[in-house]
Amino acid sequence: MTSEAERKMQFLFALRSKGVTDKRVLEAMEKIDRGAFVRGLFSERAYEDMPLPIACGQTISQPSIVGIMTQALDVRPRDKVLEVGTGSGYQAAILSQLARRVYTVDRFRRLVDQAQTIFDELGLTNITAFTADGSHGLADQAPFDRIIVTAAGEDPPGPLLAQLKIGGIMVVPVGQSDAVQSLIKVSRSETGYDYQELAPVRFVPLLEGLGQE
Ligand code: SAH
Repeated sequence: MTSEAERKMQFLFALRSKGVTDKRVLEAMEKIDRGAFVRGLFSERAYEDMPLPIACGQTISQPSIVGIMTQALDVRPRDKVLEVGTGSGYQAAILSQLARRVYTVDRFRRLVDQAQTIFDELGLTNITAFTADGSHGLADQAPFDRIIVTAAGEDPPGPLLAQLKIGGIMVVPVGQSDAVQSLIKVSRSETGYDYQELAPVRFVPLLEGLGQE
């Protein structure tokens, strides 16, 4: 039997060993219990460093990837952040600990509703979740200091680039197929966009339009 404390220590150790070293990110990931976002059959495995299935045929990302993306996003306390791909809500909950306000969108209403219920249970009042095709961004709330995309398209969507503030950062997986994707950090300056490749990754696809559930 592993105790709660041991499980937590192993979880944080796995994050560190995969390169998540930012103190604020580690604190946020220690505070937000991934177990709250994994229901049913797979809840036993919530503290393992692996992606797990959630409703609507989607996945909750691997914790170390959540950590690496959050770290690369370099969120500051006053930031307004957009997440495309709410999924379970876990990544948004981590961001809520680091940012002033988090907007998160998913194309499945069911996922957005489930995530909202967990945000309410945990008292995470600085997250606003919408059902929308996030590849268009959220024009009403733009521009954003930080944008994180947790589904992979062929390129960073144009509207998202446009909705990023000057000085802003976007972290987004891109790739031509399910098998070959790279995590990209986009930094916007006065003069344009700078692209940095961070790591090979594997995300579900960024799809157009709303889902059926
Ligand atoms: N960040 C999530 C994991 C996301 S899985 C978590 O922490 O659990 C990717 C999610 O992106 C899926 O839920 C999928 O429905 C969503 N998605 C894919 N294309 C989208 C789009 N165009 N707009 C909004 N959400 C999208």
